Amino acid sequence: MGVFDHVEFDDHESVDYFHDTATGLKAIIAVHSTALGPGAGGTRRWTYPSDAAALTDVLRLSRGMTYKNAVAGLKFGGGKAVILASENAPKSPELFRAFGRAVDSLGGRYVTAEDVGCSVEDMRYVREETEFVSGLPHDAGVAGGDPSPWTAIGCFEGIEAAAEARLGTDSLKGLRVAVQGAGGHVGLYLCRLLHEAGAELVISDVNRDHVKQVTDEMPATVVAPGDLLFADVDVLAPCALGNILTSSTIPKIRASIIAGAANNQLATAADGARLAERDILYAPDYVINAGGIISVAGEYYGESSEEQVRADVGRIKDRLKKIFDEAKETGRPTNELADALARDLVAAGKGAL
Ligand code: NAD
Repeated sequence: MGVFDHVEFDDHESVDYFHDTATGLKAIIAVHSTALGPGAGGTRRWTYPSDAAALTDVLRLSRGMTYKNAVAGLKFGGGKAVILASENAPKSPELFRAFGRAVDSLGGRYVTAEDVGCSVEDMRYVREETEFVSGLPHDAGVAGGDPSPWTAIGCFEGIEAAAEARLGTDSLKGLRVAVQGAGGHVGLYLCRLLHEAGAELVISDVNRDHVKQVTDEMPATVVAPGDLLFADVDVLAPCALGNILTSSTIPKIRASIIAGAANNQLATAADGARLAERDILYAPDYVINAGGIISVAGEYYGESSEEQVRADVGRIKDRLKKIFDEAKETGRPTNELADALARDLVAAGKGAL
């Protein structure tokens, strides 16, 4: 499939394909925009049904990173990498070193970190080959490390903001919250925060061990992955993969709030309007899930303490409140408002503060 005529091509600056014979590494790195800084976004390692599916994912995810970083006020543009997982290319230090050389070859136009399928340990091997990586082990009090706890905190506070806007309460006590991908990096941290706040959890995860990790720690109703989106809950928190909110799933959703960490939750922008028509309040994914990249930026630029990261993550809630208020006043879908804000910031060459 071609890139320039791809339906998800949106003036991306570059799309590079990498292959390393020794390790079997196959990777694509897309840099959507460097208008506000180096294109930054994590590396996803996933088994794609085809190369074309991997290209679609990296084009969408990298544009989402441009918007996410602009709205979060970071000195980053948007980029993303996907590693095509296969039995011929198992996870190994050598594979991630080869990937590190690929990142390095872009000379700093792309900065990587963890995403689905990659860990802090993997990034240590990437770091052996390039300085353009973040999300590494860090000293106490200094920004850095696994970004997912920060992503979970931003999501938790975003759910509070959504509950206030849609249900008139900022307490989550007694609210039923469905978490998709509950045993993943972000999902598990989010479940802990929700449980501590007194929410009732309904969870699913395609990985049984991950489900057990949650249920060993806290009470939760487990449902089959295929049923989670349609559970009888107040809040749906998608924390697995994208493309789940579609013209066929939206009519069956019973939650009145959708607020979770997964990237690219909407299959198309029109699905945001479908949610608004059903009076389901949608927290734009790249606004609510910016906690991790805020930590990554603090670490990369070496300018932030952990305390500063905490304060910056705390502002996600305020950004969402503004979007929710504007959506109420204008009747426009929240995803449209967020996209318009992000595009304006990029065009003006600055991030939101
Ligand atoms: P992860 O791989 O650790 O967790 C994903 C979890 O979802 C896994 O437990 C997996 O088994 C489960 N899963 C996959 N498909 C599923 C399905 N159909 N139904 C139910 N469970 C399913 O990934 P993560 O780092 O926790 O990220 C989760 C999502 O949040 C991704 O979309 C990621 O891009 C996004 N995100 C993550 C971060 C971060 O800091 N890690 C930051 C921003 C956005």
